[in-house]
Amino acid sequence: MGNINFVQKSNLFSYTGTRCLRNEYYHNDCRICIDLCPKGAFHIVRNKLTLFDNECVECAGCIGSCPTEALQIDNFDPNGFAAGFQHQNDSLISCKVSTPCLGVFDTEHFAVMAMRGGKNVQCDLSHCAACPLNESGVLGNSIRAKIAEANRFLESIESENTIETIEVKEEQSDRRALFRKGFEKLKETVIEESAAHVSMTTAHHRQADMKIPLKRILLKNSLKEVVGDLKTVQFEGTSSLFFNKQIDFSACTNCGDCTQFCPTDALFPTSDKQGIYFSQGKCIGCGICEDICKPNAITKKEGYDLISVAFDRAEELVHYELVMCHECRTPFPYKGGDPICDRCISFVTNHANMFTLARDM
Ligand code: SF4
Ligand code: SF4
Ligand code: SF4
Repeated sequence: MGNINFVQKSNLFSYTGTRCLRNEYYHNDCRICIDLCPKGAFHIVRNKLTLFDNECVECAGCIGSCPTEALQIDNFDPNGFAAGFQHQNDSLISCKVSTPCLGVFDTEHFAVMAMRGGKNVQCDLSHCAACPLNESGVLGNSIRAKIAEANRFLESIESENTIETIEVKEEQSDRRALFRKGFEKLKETVIEESAAHVSMTTAHHRQADMKIPLKRILLKNSLKEVVGDLKTVQFEGTSSLFFNKQIDFSACTNCGDCTQFCPTDALFPTSDKQGIYFSQGKCIGCGICEDICKPNAITKKEGYDLISVAFDRAEELVHYELVMCHECRTPFPYKGGDPICDRCISFVTNHANMFTLARDM
């Protein structure tokens, strides 16, 4: 398990360690899937996420919420389903008819289905109350929160279509029998209906430079088709779908850690390595850049721009002039004052007593 390049698999469910934000390279403490899993099948072993396949029931409830698409189920691809939703006659999404648990989708998927489908999306949440996967309510609340966020986004772009929820009260007499019946039916239906889409995410992940989750690419492509007609493209405040960053010039040391560890290359160096670009369309809001920045120079910024999101327009957050340090003759990012690098300044500060001693000898 020490190797970062591993895939853990139960019967149909798989977890790719290299895409997980908790892997050895990223050192992130994401625990979204751990908190969502109704069976407690994810465990932290030696600080890494580990799937106990004997505990996983392959319900797919956690899949949509993984920010990096590290989780997959063999017989259903949420990206393929969302991309092909426009070709479906029925606008109903139900865990008893066409999909696994609706937790298989993320906010992006719901938004894409409404934008591309040309019709309202109807989400059947009638079975959540009686579902044994939702005994604590965590999974159901997560699905509702994603639908609400997708609707906020659709409203902001004045979309004609929204996500509707259907909640018909059902008998709660035998929750487990109901679940078994529904799940068996689902396995058959899903295998038949989504076979054509199943490999879409897998193919995307095989491309070495495809670090951005496919669900985000689908959303950006859908946005490209409508953004030219929008009255407003710049929004105030924060969103759980789009993220913005700023760098404090006086605090940043141009160490490059944030660009090196950003999992989607939303932060990247300018070609002369003297500045840092940020692309709103690629940021998944994981927070690694903020956690890793020693001088706390990079922080969240309110507001987002849908043209920047859709077309991956990057903004230069910081730019330095590199000058030669007058003490050590090494180039360093100059911020005004004496042309002496931080290392030489801290060396002098840390060894001030030694210099005084030497002078007085
Ligand atoms: S939600 Fe995804 S990135 Fe986060 S811990 Fe789970 S597998 Fe890793
Ligand atoms: S923002 Fe922080 S991590 Fe990024 S280059 Fe500047 S000091 Fe380094
Ligand atoms: S810019 Fe920061 S928050 Fe956004 S994806 Fe990169 S590391 Fe994560």
